[in-house]
Amino acid sequence: MLRYCEVSCPYCGETQTVAVDCSTEIQDYYEDCRVCCRSMSMHVTCSYEGEVLDLSVRSEDEA
Ligand SMILES: [Zn+2]
Repeated sequence: MLRYCEVSCPYCGETQTVAVDCSTEIQDYYEDCRVCCRSMSMHVTCSYEGEVLDLSVRSEDEA
């Protein structure tokens, strides 16, 4: 189940829409910024029903 969420890149600050796969409740992965192409560290928490409860984005150095 895919949800689309808006995130702000921690490097360049650009807002973009990312697709989140809600079939897993808690996940950590990297997503490349579409503007500056750097790896954003994504932490996503989804409910059992497939809603995004929490989404945080950090720079690679903070992660
Ligand atoms: Zn960026």
